[in-house]
Amino acid sequence: MAQQIKAIRGMHDVLPEQAPLWRFLEDGVRDVLDGYGYAEMRMPIVEMTDLFKRSIGEVTDIVEKEMYSFEDRNGDSLTLRPEGTAGCVRACMENGLLHNQTQRVWYRGPMFRHERPQKGRYRQFHQIGVEAFGFKGPDIDLETIFITRRIWQRLGLTDLELQINSLGDAAERAAYRELLVAYLDGHRDRLDGDSLRRLDGNPLRILDSKNPEMQEIIEGAPNLFDQLGEETRRHFNELRAGLDAAGIPYRINPRLVRGLDYYNRTVYEWVTTRLGAQGTVCAGGRFDGLVEQLGGRPTPAVGFALGVERLIALLEEGGCNGSDLAPHAYLVLLGEGAERQGVIIAERLRELAPRLRLQVHCGGGGFKGQFKKADKSGAGHALVVGDDELKRGVLAIKPLREAAEQRELTVAEAAVLFNELIEKKG
Ligand code: ATP
Ligand code: MG
Repeated sequence: MAQQIKAIRGMHDVLPEQAPLWRFLEDGVRDVLDGYGYAEMRMPIVEMTDLFKRSIGEVTDIVEKEMYSFEDRNGDSLTLRPEGTAGCVRACMENGLLHNQTQRVWYRGPMFRHERPQKGRYRQFHQIGVEAFGFKGPDIDLETIFITRRIWQRLGLTDLELQINSLGDAAERAAYRELLVAYLDGHRDRLDGDSLRRLDGNPLRILDSKNPEMQEIIEGAPNLFDQLGEETRRHFNELRAGLDAAGIPYRINPRLVRGLDYYNRTVYEWVTTRLGAQGTVCAGGRFDGLVEQLGGRPTPAVGFALGVERLIALLEEGGCNGSDLAPHAYLVLLGEGAERQGVIIAERLRELAPRLRLQVHCGGGGFKGQFKKADKSGAGHALVVGDDELKRGVLAIKPLREAAEQRELTVAEAAVLFNELIEKKG
């Protein structure tokens, strides 16, 4: 036998049994975003490699070592998107969506990073990304945080901690960078390989090091906060006042710098202690310079990305079953005549009950076996058609989850019954 081909390491299938949780999460997030007036966008999964080099930054983990880049048949260098913001900005610019107007948009889909696979860290993973363009005040930063809080409420997630920080503006960051490099240079002998590499290109990223041996040096580093100018401080203080007014607890984490280069001013993360080391389920912030950096007019922007797999893990951990996708009814077919007519009868019923989830037993078999399958499908009712019912043009209906008598109904009567049932359930 030929050797079986397996999925690529770090890339996973979402199986039927997991689908209800994914659906619950995706539908919930979509509803919340609809409620805030954010419009959905869909971008290609593949972009020009330069887009990511220019936006994420040359000296970042993503661009240096995590991208799936390849040459296509024309010789262009293309990359499977490692994140969504760059492609979103590209698409908005290219289609004139940022011309003298503001935009609130969102998207979802797979992202690709060649990282070391572990719990909560995969090579293909999913994000739901939300971005707002053209607003410069802290009110929109707040709005995005309010959205995330409402998403947690909607999904029933508790115990998430909001961490915030301000990275300052370009000039403030540059000033801080000098201080930081001078400090770190003084401790060169104690820096690990990664940090030494980052010292020239991206020293702020050292603050984000996950290496425990680096923590002492990081603790002693000068504080970016002390370099912030008046405008930045005001922006940050207004953000804080808004969070206080809305009753959202938060922690200021001066070491929160984010992995991507393009952030400025407000950055935030929602973190849980329930998932081990990979505890950040949402990361966001302001990126006022990115549109200009990609060749557009200066356009303030803010956004966040949800890590879908981590949120799914959190929902699972909390015992959430996800959306109820089980059929309302399972059609049992006894005898050749009924077997032949089954899918046709089901269509008549669907015509009259458009929201009915109805699964037809195809492939024959006895009464017992079919009822076993009906039960396993999760359906609330079995509908039974045998030769006798077929002749008389009726269905026998039997509740599967409660003790109740079997009854006979016409297709039209069954439709009325299920329409009422579905209406009641909402
Ligand atoms: P981390 O510090 O965990 O590597 P990051 O700074 O690289 O995160 P972002 O690029 O901001 O993360 O992505 C936003 C969110 O997407 C993260 O908070 C996380 O929930 C999720 N995420 C990022 N990388 C992965 C991955 N490889 N596998 C699963 N989820 C991921
Ligand atoms: Mg990362």
